[in-house]
Amino acid sequence: MSEEQFSYPEKVDVQNCDKEPIHIIGKAQAHGVIVAANPKTFEVTQASENTLKFFGISHKDFLGISLEKLIGKLPVKRLQASIAEESGFAAEDLKINENNFVMLAHLSEDNLILDFEILGKTWNPTHFQQQLTSIINGLDTTNSIPTLCDRAAKLMKNIFGYDRVMVYRFDEEWNGEVVAEEKEEHLESWLDLHYPASDIPSQSRKLFLNHKVRIISDVNYEPVPIAPEISPVTNKPLDLSRSALRGVSPIHIEYLQNMKVGASLTAAIIVNGNLWGLVACHHYSAKFINYYQRETCKFLTQIFSNNISTIQTGIFNKKINENSELRQRIVEELKIEDSLAEGLAKTSVPFTSLIESGGGAVILDNEIKLFGKTPKEAEVLEIRDFLAQKDEVIFHTKNLKSQYPKAENYKKSASGILSFKLGRAEDNFIIWFRPEVAETVSWGGDPNNKVSYNEEKQRLSPRKSFEKWTEKLDGISHSWQDYDLETAKVFRENLNQFLLAKQKEEISRLNQNLEEVNKDLELFSYGISHDLRSPLRGINGFAQILKEDFSGDLPAEASETIDTILKSSNRMEGIIDDILSFSKITSGELEKEKFSTKKLLEELLSSFNIKINFPDTEVVIAENLHGTYGDRRMVFQLWSNLIGNALKYSQRAKTPKLEIGSISKDNREIFYIKDNGIGIAKNDQDKIFNVFSRASKNDFKGTGVGLSIVARIIEKHNGKIWIESEPGTGSTFFFYL
Ligand code: ADP
Repeated sequence: MSEEQFSYPEKVDVQNCDKEPIHIIGKAQAHGVIVAANPKTFEVTQASENTLKFFGISHKDFLGISLEKLIGKLPVKRLQASIAEESGFAAEDLKINENNFVMLAHLSEDNLILDFEILGKTWNPTHFQQQLTSIINGLDTTNSIPTLCDRAAKLMKNIFGYDRVMVYRFDEEWNGEVVAEEKEEHLESWLDLHYPASDIPSQSRKLFLNHKVRIISDVNYEPVPIAPEISPVTNKPLDLSRSALRGVSPIHIEYLQNMKVGASLTAAIIVNGNLWGLVACHHYSAKFINYYQRETCKFLTQIFSNNISTIQTGIFNKKINENSELRQRIVEELKIEDSLAEGLAKTSVPFTSLIESGGGAVILDNEIKLFGKTPKEAEVLEIRDFLAQKDEVIFHTKNLKSQYPKAENYKKSASGILSFKLGRAEDNFIIWFRPEVAETVSWGGDPNNKVSYNEEKQRLSPRKSFEKWTEKLDGISHSWQDYDLETAKVFRENLNQFLLAKQKEEISRLNQNLEEVNKDLELFSYGISHDLRSPLRGINGFAQILKEDFSGDLPAEASETIDTILKSSNRMEGIIDDILSFSKITSGELEKEKFSTKKLLEELLSSFNIKINFPDTEVVIAENLHGTYGDRRMVFQLWSNLIGNALKYSQRAKTPKLEIGSISKDNREIFYIKDNGIGIAKNDQDKIFNVFSRASKNDFKGTGVGLSIVARIIEKHNGKIWIESEPGTGSTFFFYL
């Protein structure tokens, strides 16, 4: 049964009263007339069946008449203007059939709804003025919420004269508590009584947000039906959510009758857009207060609500300030610590004191530390597993066992928990524990037994007995406040920063180590290749002498051996050269400039002496080649290695061909060199940039260092190199700097 349902059900009981569609109740209260009219034609379409009593026109004759006939030309004009300008409707005082009325208009769906409320005796403006002043002064100078509530109750009683005025405050589960009361002496006090959430069902709470003051002028009234039931304009029952004369839920009436209440006034206390509580006034006989008095009441609750908000903000700020000092101290002391868990155990102010709690736990990298009053270590680890499944980074509950039944075993120390996840790991947590509140709460009714069964009427009704009933709050801790959550949030940021700083330190230490090792390695390879040169020159020189001066005296086998020595020492010299230039590139600084790529290539190609050394190879350089910005010496080396490879690995093609050019893509100038040589297999394409890594093995001469020099130069220029290659077809190397 949703709020949107079509018509008010015949039978509503406590089982479904949370869904009772009270906005389409189809009845008016008896102290006025509800009239619905077509907002275009101003013709009456529906009305409560008490028009004869108030207007002197029978209901039958009333339907279909024009509003003008009832209220006169000018008021209709004003209604028209309000509709056209969408400006909202002003209350209108009218005299009809010798009665004084206030007419309250509003639009609901496509109906114009008019409440004609009897005004009673006339209103004294000076009196009114005095009341407003007393409200402002009376509620002004306190910074305690209980005192403010007491004063509001007193003012309310003084101004409106109800027998009992209560200020009723909701908790986060919508259970209520009477926090202030002002009453006639002979009445029994209801101060401190608690009421289960079901007493004010959710849809009534929602209505209060729209319609802040609601009266029931006579609990024992005869509800006046609205006829016809279905609006001819919308083909639906009238939505009376905003009608002041809307009839009252029969369940609520029964509820009030059980308390012997004759009339009531309820005003919503709305703080920061949320229903904070209610001012509930009871009278033990019928009592009506008119529209203007209700406006005064609205004004009073408005001031009251604003003051609550101010006081709450003050408390929040004060708590946050106090905590912030403690927090800073903890964070400061942590700075010298290496491990967070160790550090938190040592601080002069324990972190658990940041938030009112019995104890706490730090669980970090499978290490656990407990502080103060907590469940046992194994139990806390189980709670950690429960928390790890939650999506929330910050989690809190004041009734852990309702979500995690095992917590029954340690509710004395951990009925409530507030926790947050720490760092990136899913199972690092900081937790605060709150013990069970060992208090006895007075309930206005037994929340476990909301309804009593009336055998006679065979229908459920709200509690017949309204006796004080007590329940021990089982497994419930004090509520976590917004400033507790805020403190947890900021503390979490602090600790995450701590962890991040430690990680950064660790990374930069590792980096430094790595840099040192690298430098050593460069020096070593530079030194070694340098030192190897002179003995190698010795070997080479003496082998040359042997060959030139003694080859005639030696057997052929010895001459061949000398040739092998010469070949090997030449190869070794090649390797040493390559290692030397690699270590130079690695350690060298960049000297960037702009230069012509074309000129560089011409210079380079002539040094290769292509016509003589590679007579069959055709080399094509694109016309519109881009210039280069980089270290010319290094870029020279880069091209030299790429061209050298392309020439070498395409030698065996039928008609070897090299193409060099550049393209622009995504704001980048990309150079390429394409050959029709042997190509490179897919799984070799990444490896060949490593030092000494070769894919072609022994078919071609080489050391496997050339491309690692290329990669290093590209890296130094923050560039990128990649290959497109097909074995047997050729390779294209692309790069940008
Ligand atoms: P190398 O001295 O062996 O040429 P490089 O580092 O210059 O050393 O190249 C590494 C490997 O990459 C080579 O051994 C070869 O297998 C492969 N390679 C490089 N350029 C080409 C190319 N243009 N065509 C085919 N294979 C290539």
